[in-house]
Amino acid sequence: MDRKAHSPPFQKIIIVGAGPSGLLLALLLAQHNIPSIVLEAWPWLDTRLRATQYGVPATRIFRRAGLLPDFRAASIPKFPAICWRRVADGEKLIEIDMSVVEDEEDRMTVLQLGEMIQIMYKHCIDPNIGKGLIDVRFNHWVTGTGQDEQSKRAWVDVEVGRNDEEKIPQRIEADYVVGCDGASSAVRRSLFGKEWPGQTWDCRFVVQNVFYDGFEKHGWEGGNYCIDHDHWGLIARRGHGGLWRVTYGDPAVGLTDEEYLARRPWHFKAMLPGNPEPDQYRIEQTNLYNIHNRCVESFKVGRILLAADAAHVCNPMGGYGCMTACLDVGGLADCFIGLYEGKAGEEILETYAKVRRDIFLKYVDARSIKNLDRVRKTDPWTVLGTDKFFGVIRDLNKNKAALKSFLMKESSIEYDFTQHYDGRLPNGGPTDSTASPSRAGIEVGLEA
Ligand SMILES: Cc1cc2nc3c(=O)[nH]c(=O)nc-3n(C[C@H](O)[C@H](O)[C@H](O)COP(=O)(O)OP(=O)(O)OC[C@H]3O[C@@H](n4cnc5c(N)ncnc54)[C@H](O)[C@@H]3O)c2cc1C
Repeated sequence: MDRKAHSPPFQKIIIVGAGPSGLLLALLLAQHNIPSIVLEAWPWLDTRLRATQYGVPATRIFRRAGLLPDFRAASIPKFPAICWRRVADGEKLIEIDMSVVEDEEDRMTVLQLGEMIQIMYKHCIDPNIGKGLIDVRFNHWVTGTGQDEQSKRAWVDVEVGRNDEEKIPQRIEADYVVGCDGASSAVRRSLFGKEWPGQTWDCRFVVQNVFYDGFEKHGWEGGNYCIDHDHWGLIARRGHGGLWRVTYGDPAVGLTDEEYLARRPWHFKAMLPGNPEPDQYRIEQTNLYNIHNRCVESFKVGRILLAADAAHVCNPMGGYGCMTACLDVGGLADCFIGLYEGKAGEEILETYAKVRRDIFLKYVDARSIKNLDRVRKTDPWTVLGTDKFFGVIRDLNKNKAALKSFLMKESSIEYDFTQHYDGRLPNGGPTDSTASPSRAGIEVGLEA
């Protein structure tokens, strides 16, 4: 192709949702001078308690997007270890020494999602970074989508205005629409309706930010996966000034939120070191969730694409959700960039849709379910001897260099779409993007 004669085959992309995936996609596109409009339903960025840790594959995308220095500055300085504990007696069963990677630029990122998206948003609206190419519009509630292949246009129908105002209907058009609008995605529903294949877990996730001096007093640090049939979850240091995140799944079914919260002192007494009473800790913020593992039938219908939670969701044990979201949009950005710069044809978007869905179903879905089962279903008194993953960690703990390379290696959930540029690999393929034996097998899906 004559590059000088090349004029971009599209002008603008609509991104629905100013969550981590939407903002990250906009930033990666702006690096290559591709304009986007980001439509956010709410008047603000999300402040709910959700993700806090993002594995090495996501960190590599943060570095590429120029976000990593600001993320590191906002994060806690050290994250020394991740361990698995038996709740019944607090015994630490096994741990991964994260200090072996503390000097690695691409080590796991630890930051509350709310803080992370604030930084992403600042980057988007910074004229030196977003280059004025990212138009973030709040109070834009997308209600439907449409497209016309002949004119090569796609659009969203939007209700514009704050909740307490009369909403003004609007139609906004571009060349492509990308749904980054989370688990209850209006874009996905406009394509596939309310149903999406998968399962909802029979528990309620209770997530809170907690101040409790007993963690340090009892020598707790880093991340602590808690194994028990009634009291399972993750307790981790997450912020400055002694801020910890306590996440547990309550196995009771069908209670009201108030009833779930009334059971919290029982869970805390069992799970927190020192078995504290409510007057010994302070809870700053709480959010409750139903949790699902689900994946949509296709990530692409014509000129409308889906990415991240809008396309797939998984339970949070092991921190796969946002990490996979980042890999989706990192890959999708490369596909749009290849197309925009004349290095790839439109078929590369089909490749994106196939590869990222295959990876979710083959690796992310299965591993996140294993992680969940490990904390809630295994026998905490025998799991150390029976769990294959713990066996791998035990072996790695004997050799620091091996542990380091294991923690930093390329993951089977990563995929480089630039290999399809300039016809290097055919688009529409590969038939099995996840088949490479060197990339298969057990991985730390903290990734663990
Ligand atoms: C308790 C919990 C803990 C988690 N922990 C981790 C973790 O440690 N690590 C990890 O990697 N992942 C974790 N996750 C998953 C992670 O939070 C999600 O995968 C991630 O937030 C997905 O990002 P997203 O941008 O796809 O969607 P979202 O973060 O949901 O953002 C979607 C955005 O779209 C907007 N929107 C929705 N509908 C519309 C509409 N109709 N019109 C316009 N805008 C709309 C929303 O307001 C929102 O701003 C956790 C999840 C939970 C629930």
